[in-house]
Amino acid sequence: MWSLLVWWRRVRTAPGKVIPGLFYDMPFRAYYPKRITFAERADAMKNALYLYNTLTRKKELFEPLTPPFAGMYVCGPTVYSESHLGHARPAVTFDVLYRYLLHLGYKVRYVRNITDVGHLENEVDDTGEDRISRRAKQEHLEPMEVVQKYMNSFHKAMERLNTLPPSIEPRASGHIIEQLQMIDKLISNGYAYVSNGSVYFDVEKYDKNLSYGILSGRVLEDMKANSRVLEGQEEKHGQFDFALWKKASPGHIMRWPSQWGEGFPGWHLECSVMSTKYLGDVFDIHGGGMDLIFPHHECEIAQSTAALGKPSVRYWVHNNMVTINGQKMARSLGNFITLEELFTGNHKLLLQAYSPMTIRFFMLQAHYRSTLDFSNEALLAASVGLQKLMAAERTLANLKPSVTSTIDVSGIENKCYEAMNDDLNTPVALAHLFDAVRIINLTSDGKEKLTEDDIKTLAGIFKAFVHEIFGLMAEEDGGNEKLAGVMTLLLDMRQEAKARKEWSVSDRIRDRLSELGITVKDRKDGYDWEITV
Ligand SMILES: [Zn+2]
Repeated sequence: MWSLLVWWRRVRTAPGKVIPGLFYDMPFRAYYPKRITFAERADAMKNALYLYNTLTRKKELFEPLTPPFAGMYVCGPTVYSESHLGHARPAVTFDVLYRYLLHLGYKVRYVRNITDVGHLENEVDDTGEDRISRRAKQEHLEPMEVVQKYMNSFHKAMERLNTLPPSIEPRASGHIIEQLQMIDKLISNGYAYVSNGSVYFDVEKYDKNLSYGILSGRVLEDMKANSRVLEGQEEKHGQFDFALWKKASPGHIMRWPSQWGEGFPGWHLECSVMSTKYLGDVFDIHGGGMDLIFPHHECEIAQSTAALGKPSVRYWVHNNMVTINGQKMARSLGNFITLEELFTGNHKLLLQAYSPMTIRFFMLQAHYRSTLDFSNEALLAASVGLQKLMAAERTLANLKPSVTSTIDVSGIENKCYEAMNDDLNTPVALAHLFDAVRIINLTSDGKEKLTEDDIKTLAGIFKAFVHEIFGLMAEEDGGNEKLAGVMTLLLDMRQEAKARKEWSVSDRIRDRLSELGITVKDRKDGYDWEITV
């Protein structure tokens, strides 16, 4: 009998399973014919998702152009340096949106580009050296070696943050022909002109006919009045015209032939070209950081509208920035932290290393349109919160069901959906998940009771929201399969020692674990453990 109990506990606490145990893996309907399944619930929630559209400045009901398909394009990184906190925010934000759309039953095509050419140092004035070329010279590498090196490191960091890979990850240098075709179209439509081997977009003409600045709320006349003309811009007809194709100077490494001579594409062009190539002339969602609204996305709108005769994007979604102790993050301010430094703790501003899941949880604690202020205190608090959430799931798997429940769990699931449907309000959804954590811990302490039905409901909520939608997972330092197995073995042996009244053994195990930062809690029906900071 004892070995059967041990086996059962192992099955129920087996790591790697979102809803552990044999019974839990079976569809609810097999047991409770009247319950609606998560798929059905998700389907009902599908028609109630509101997203804030930067273009209209209001929350709008998300209605894809051709349901059940949904298309999403997100501006990816320019791969010329190590990935940093600023890269993690859009990656996590749009990963949650992607996961939520998938959860709701949409068939999503998620396109996120890699910029490997054309992003100049000064992106507002459209001047300076190509960022990748400059890095290639500094590191004595081929530009494509720079691209490969930092793209690999970006992918590695994204994997550690548990972001799902996009459906398509197109690169600007792989779409030169398509970019030349769009330039041709813009010239023939009268919105672009050739000047000294370069091609520029005619912003003044576009503004006259189609109004430039609708996304950022900028007015061209005001922009002109408030800025001075920079030197070296004589090729342009208008001060705010931007390059579609740049003539390559003799020393420029990355260059392609064109009818206007050797050159390279302007940065904004790739996104207009690759988004419409893979998602159609008109598509659902375009995402990116708020810092891209102007000039990048404004120029994208102008290019696509002028080339295709209509705007391409239906919902513009933008995430806010990460600040550090209230300051903007910048290399020049010395507060620039790469993801690798965060994961290893190797930076003067860091008190310790922070795990990828802690970073992810930290980002979910703020709404994506709010600024997110990084500090050691906030990260430490996030780490504790994440451990509490994961510990509650382990406790849940060990709960003994009662005949009746003394606490109501029925509203939690709906409240989580309502929060997510309200423009992906992850902090509010997390607060509801912590209501579930409280209920689980009270039940485990014998202060409340839950039926098997309610325990399953809570397990389902964890599966859907914590794992599928939020993308949080047990990780190496907190929930790795081997560690969980070792802990189960050790704590089962401690239970056996207690049963034999060998208190010195059971206390020694508890105290040694405590010294290692692992707290053991004796529960009414067994035990629970968590890693405490
Ligand atoms: Zn872009």
